[in-house]
Amino acid sequence: MKLLSKKLNVVIIAGASGIGREIAIAYHQENCRVFVCDISDDFIEKFKNDYPSIFVKKTDVSLYDNVSTFFKEIKVEEDRIDVLVNCAGIAGPTASLEDIDPDEWDHTIKVNLNGMFYCLREAIPLLKKSESPSIINIASSASFFGFPLRSPYTAAKWAVIGMTKTLAMELGSDGVRVNAICPGSVRGERINTVIEADALKQGKTIEEIEKLYLSQVSLKKFVEPEDVANLALFLSSDLGRFISGQAIGLDGHTEGLSNNL
Ligand code: NAD
Repeated sequence: MKLLSKKLNVVIIAGASGIGREIAIAYHQENCRVFVCDISDDFIEKFKNDYPSIFVKKTDVSLYDNVSTFFKEIKVEEDRIDVLVNCAGIAGPTASLEDIDPDEWDHTIKVNLNGMFYCLREAIPLLKKSESPSIINIASSASFFGFPLRSPYTAAKWAVIGMTKTLAMELGSDGVRVNAICPGSVRGERINTVIEADALKQGKTIEEIEKLYLSQVSLKKFVEPEDVANLALFLSSDLGRFISGQAIGLDGHTEGLSNNL
């Protein structure tokens, strides 16, 4: 069943792997024109092999010039964007705040927060030209809780909610809807790496940490990447036309985030 009634121009930031890739494929399958950027040559190469018709550009979202160049190239192809999905985000360091290297702090904020600002800044004039514009920022369950050992990630993800709600107010009269999807632990490479880092830091086994993460979720399961893609499609469809300014949990209900077994 198709959710989108018309062909949309969709930009997916950090869409060559992980959740972003799943979202890009979902829009592609809905016959949208999809533009993807990503920092990784390897992921880009694989993506181009798998989906040669999708526009993909190497971009580091933490650098404004890179982001600006990506959007300039989109503007050559299209005069409007209908959907922007801001998916770039790195896990950042797993450590107590007093042990975090300031450069690692800065880098986490640059990718997860500044990068989102740069993409929004470039995309908004193009979104204003759409008949049904929608922005989807990928936040996290960590946007609602304190998350021990992950302070820069958590700080950036709380900030994404503040930016989402503020933008919904700034852009509402232009008809631009702005929402945040807040996934819990999503099955895939990224959560495996996070669990490994947490296990190492706490001197626990990977199985113990995975069990802990699952115990914090009422549904006792990890989110699948396609669940995030489905919600993104719904939010940008006519079915979501009155949803704006929301931080939507997509997590099977997170009961709390703690590192204690
Ligand atoms: P991932 O690490 O699997 O993929 C991230 C993608 O971002 C990769 O393709 C990578 O090359 C790209 N990327 C990294 N740094 C970049 C940069 N500076 N510029 C451009 N691209 C860059 O991550 P994921 O699990 O797919 O997560 C995607 C988003 O979802 C992130 O914002 C993340 O914080 C959020 N999220 C993930 C989970 C989870 O459990 N995986 C849970 C909640 C929220």
